[in-house]
Amino acid sequence: MTKFNELAISPEILRAVEEMGYEEATAIQASAIPASMEGHDVLGLSNTGTGKTAAFGIPAIEKIHEYCKDPKVLIICPTRELVEQVATELRKFSKYKEGIKIAPVYGGQPIERQIQLLKRGCAIVVGTPGRLMDHLRRHTLRFTNCEQVILDEADEMLNMGFKEDIEEILKSFPAQTHPQTILFSATMPDAILKITKQFQNDPVQVKIKSVQRTIDTVDQYYYEVPRGKKTNALRVLLDRYDPELCMIFCNTKSMVDELAAELNAHSMKAIGLHGDMKQSQRDLVMTQFRGGKCPVLIATDVAARGIDVDNIALVVNFDLPQDMEYYIHRVGRTGRAGKKGKAITLISGKRQLYDLKAIMRYTKTNIVKRLLPTSEQMEENNRKKFITEVLEACNEGVNQDSMEIANELLAEGIAVENLISALISMNYKNEIIDIADDEVRRYSAHFDKVRLNLNIGKNVGIQTGNVVAAIIEECAVSAKAIGRIDVRSDFTLVDVEAAKVDIVLEKMQGAMIRGHKVLIQIDEAPKRKRSQSMRQGKHHGGRKESSKDARKPAPRERRRGAGRHERSVRKSKAKK
Ligand code: ADP
Ligand code: MG
Repeated sequence: MTKFNELAISPEILRAVEEMGYEEATAIQASAIPASMEGHDVLGLSNTGTGKTAAFGIPAIEKIHEYCKDPKVLIICPTRELVEQVATELRKFSKYKEGIKIAPVYGGQPIERQIQLLKRGCAIVVGTPGRLMDHLRRHTLRFTNCEQVILDEADEMLNMGFKEDIEEILKSFPAQTHPQTILFSATMPDAILKITKQFQNDPVQVKIKSVQRTIDTVDQYYYEVPRGKKTNALRVLLDRYDPELCMIFCNTKSMVDELAAELNAHSMKAIGLHGDMKQSQRDLVMTQFRGGKCPVLIATDVAARGIDVDNIALVVNFDLPQDMEYYIHRVGRTGRAGKKGKAITLISGKRQLYDLKAIMRYTKTNIVKRLLPTSEQMEENNRKKFITEVLEACNEGVNQDSMEIANELLAEGIAVENLISALISMNYKNEIIDIADDEVRRYSAHFDKVRLNLNIGKNVGIQTGNVVAAIIEECAVSAKAIGRIDVRSDFTLVDVEAAKVDIVLEKMQGAMIRGHKVLIQIDEAPKRKRSQSMRQGKHHGGRKESSKDARKPAPRERRRGAGRHERSVRKSKAKK
């Protein structure tokens, strides 16, 4: 492990990095920062989330020592979001370095404003290829003084059709000066190797093994929670899942602290971890968590980086992650070492449901809807739990002290049932946590049907009636709970009342219909609909882009369009 202070970076940047909560350099940072600072070209292969921004950003800032009229460093990124993200990170790294101007340029923003910004002079330009080309053509940007050029997510840029733009930008550098060229990419297709050959000078290669994707072994659920009831819902769910070790993710430090305090106020042992803590505090937190002293750890994404605990039973997304990759990182904390993990996500409102569906598409996983328990279910659960605890205590054998008291009580001549009943009312806490109005929930559950997908259809002679009969018989649900059934050539869609989805999924999984084994899962109909409207181009509204950028869909949108073949992926999975 490399610490930042072993990397020969300036005290100003060191201070900023420490403030950001970084302690150890990630693998790519440990190799790429020295190579880059020594002036080599760098060819880096690594996945998202490995810390590339600092890997190229810190050396870039180290190059700037004076006011620059024309940029000394150029950073090219595929999308506007990435440009903004990189510029923001770089500003943080340079917080203690005086007067380093960073100019983000991308399509969709008035070019005049950017021209004004560039005229005032800047040391580092971060831009999308399309908009950079615009500026080059208008001569509002030139690279005569540029000593370093960085291509971030190079493969993504090529996929988006920016090859010519990138080549043209690289060729616009004065012939006599070879700029130091740093290229990062998650994959190394031929096209990248060609760019490397043409524009890089004996680059130092840095390869980082990809983080293993473990989320496929994790059962993932989501709960719709009324606004303002999230903490209560969490308490109910922690009680239900009763995990041995649990990690809860929030998006902000203040939420971490707030939630830890609230859970502890309800005598649930939880402890918070975030970037503001000193190393000694963090160590203490981790010891308590690992040792099981405090089985619930609440953390921000940044603070959770680098934490390595293998046997986490449950991951909770208390806040929906701000970045799709974060979802994978969070959920990947459980389900390790061949164990089956569980992850639950709390969402409030339609907007978040929409974001969650985007996460499902991006991660190509199915996150199954579950309903929060009703007050009756909570009562039943409380009762069951109490009875189990009592029975367990009985099994543990006789406690001499209690036995003496028991005999004293019995000597009073009270009926045993009365005695037990009195003891229960003294000890039994039938707590019903307010998570929502049950009436409203029942109402919405009734009308809220969920579409399920069965792996068999007309190809094996299935008819609507067979499906209804099987579900009623296997799951003991009434016919009313089953809605429309659509038998297709090799699969069947069934609408089921949301409240009954869990039971139908559980009982029908592996059940037989007319001699055929059933595999069942939630169907993602919205995905199908959306990919249709994509084809009709409905999703391009509201995005103004420069002439170049406009032709190319942003990666998010392209991912949405990918919905079509995700369907066949899902089906082939179901066939296994
Ligand atoms: P990439 O570009 O490889 O996808 P980023 O540079 O965006 O990765 O970093 C991913 C996340 O990790 C960011 O939230 C960043 O602040 C954080 N991060 C990066 N390096 C470190 C580090 N050395 N220690 C802690 N967190 C880090
Ligand atoms: Mg990045």
